Amino acid sequence: MFTQTNKSIEKNPIKMKTLRHSNIPIFLPQLACPHQCIFCNQNHISSQNDVPTPHEAHSIIERNLATIPKNYDIQIAFFGGSFTCLPLETQKAYLQVAQPFIKSKQVSSIRISTRPDYIDDDILRMLKRYHVTDIELGAQSTNNTVLKLSGRGHDRNAIQKASEQINAHGFQLGLQMMLGLPGDTFQTALQTAHDIIAFGAKTTRIYPTLVVADTPLAKLYEQGKYTPLTLSQAVAWTTEIYTLFVKNNITVLKVGLHPNKDFTSNKYLLAGPFHQSFKELALSNIWYERLKLLMQENCTNQSITIFVPENELHNAVGYNSQNRNELLKKYKNVTFCTDSALQDYEFTYCNN
Ligand code: SF4
Repeated sequence: MFTQTNKSIEKNPIKMKTLRHSNIPIFLPQLACPHQCIFCNQNHISSQNDVPTPHEAHSIIERNLATIPKNYDIQIAFFGGSFTCLPLETQKAYLQVAQPFIKSKQVSSIRISTRPDYIDDDILRMLKRYHVTDIELGAQSTNNTVLKLSGRGHDRNAIQKASEQINAHGFQLGLQMMLGLPGDTFQTALQTAHDIIAFGAKTTRIYPTLVVADTPLAKLYEQGKYTPLTLSQAVAWTTEIYTLFVKNNITVLKVGLHPNKDFTSNKYLLAGPFHQSFKELALSNIWYERLKLLMQENCTNQSITIFVPENELHNAVGYNSQNRNELLKKYKNVTFCTDSALQDYEFTYCNN
């Protein structure tokens, strides 16, 4: 018998770009950041203690440009520190380095990351003059208790106000969030995601909290006053929140940290839901939730063929084929195929 059932899920018109995109990252670890968020030690995460000078930033851009194909949309990205906390002249010195590359059209624009409480109209006007188009704020949470316990030094209002100003000046807003900070629960994390959507962000990054050596959070962890999320909790929270962002057309630029070798060899990572393939685990779990109904069938004499969007085949089969293996407990044979008519998390299937 052949049946085909459309299990169509919500449509999500993901933004299509004609050009492929590449960032040239210039990492300024904790440069001039006047704060100490309890989870942060950017030197350990990046293994970079030296901050590149503007002159070195120029060399980084040239080196990267030599390796990126010509038909890419290229952005210079000042990451890692809190860019707008730098003295104005230093900000301008870095931004100035990028200008010849923008003028020659080798690079289209600049993105920066910073804190919500270091944004004002003068700064935004200056950034605009230097062709900055994208501003990412480390929001981390919109819950005031979580922000306070995490030593962020700003509250929810600061995130909302900065977001409004950034949007009013016509920048593309990104709001990054963390999961499992002290005081965070699934409900507060979900509320943060809803706020990120409501504040008009176009992009986000989701980082489960890790306990990094030489941070105040490490001390709390060692004293038994902080318990990180387990890997399965972090994957479950991410699954829900990622799906919410996709439904609301927010581009998720990154899920989980991709730190250096020293970090992952446990030299600096003390505890927390770290996995080299964290994003894959989360995206595979989204499909596990989608396919769960089929896994509850008992069709040991039947085969099943599941059609999924081309770009979701890998996630649908699952990390290490875990979704396919679950289905194989209930079906004689399981085949995944692609169907270009399907989008996002739509799938169809047939039994035979
Ligand atoms: S504001 Fe950013 S760079 Fe500064 S301590 Fe906090 S997380 Fe680290």
